[in-house]
Amino acid sequence: MMEKWLAGIDLGGTSTKLAFLSLCGEIMDKWEIPTDHSEKGRNIVLNIVKSIDRRLHELGEGREKLAGVGMGAPGPVDHATGVLYNAVNLGLRENYPLQAILERETSLPAAIDNDANCAALGEMWMGAGDGAKDLVCVTLGTGVGGGVIANGHILQGAGGAAGEIGHITSVPAGGAQCNCGKTGCLETIASATGIVRLAMEAAAAGEKGRLADMISNTGIVSAKDVFDCASGGDAAATRVVDEVAFHLGLALANIANTLNPEKIVLGGGVSRAGDLLLNKVKEQFARYAFERVRETTTIALATLGNDAGVIGAAWLVKKRLSL
Ligand SMILES: [Zn+2]
Repeated sequence: MMEKWLAGIDLGGTSTKLAFLSLCGEIMDKWEIPTDHSEKGRNIVLNIVKSIDRRLHELGEGREKLAGVGMGAPGPVDHATGVLYNAVNLGLRENYPLQAILERETSLPAAIDNDANCAALGEMWMGAGDGAKDLVCVTLGTGVGGGVIANGHILQGAGGAAGEIGHITSVPAGGAQCNCGKTGCLETIASATGIVRLAMEAAAAGEKGRLADMISNTGIVSAKDVFDCASGGDAAATRVVDEVAFHLGLALANIANTLNPEKIVLGGGVSRAGDLLLNKVKEQFARYAFERVRETTTIALATLGNDAGVIGAAWLVKKRLSL
């Protein structure tokens, strides 16, 4: 019998990542296309399907090679019906039946979930989760995303919004404005955007040193610059990293005190800071975690990088088809 593949899609605001995977989770091929927002998002799925067909053709395969299609989408999803509640940055209307449209256009079984949930499933299946069935995955990127897996299942919650770790309130009074409409969310501190904001504030407050010099010379820094300056011993940058680690470690300890997961996996661009961030987060986590939680929940860096989303998306449809 012909070995089937799974298609995994990570739909993003500006670009869409695609991959073909074996049923064991091995990536056979992967590529990326721009997300087409035109026509109120109507071209998004059409474009993806065209791209999949073209790629299959180039590989000498047809659509029958695929067992199904899984997709991670940027917004809350009704897992049962495959409806995307809202995804403003995609230009789609509210309550968009993304899964049904994907099935219609591909004539294949499809499954969708929120992108952060897909990243968590990817890490559980093929990455740092390493077989753990109770796992919390936190994606530290432009924003902060989260996925909670309990006994192998993603926690969806009543409104598809479980695991919105980025919107845990870290600064109860005041704090910076968050994209969600609240203020003081973890995302305003522990995301790349939040780290840059803290660095700019430190420079504006008159902090001196390499980080402050970079800001006064160029007007802007990246989160990576902040970590680079901190690892070079810059005091202001170190204070920024300490503040990020404090809020992240505290939030993760509170999550772990509730769920006691086997693993907490940190992914996303900011997690590339590696041990510099990880060790400080672990320190804060240890301060605030309940003793038994501290002893049994470990924090690790994600291992799949940008592939976590497509791998998790493929896992979704594999699971749906019981393959
Ligand atoms: Zn928020």
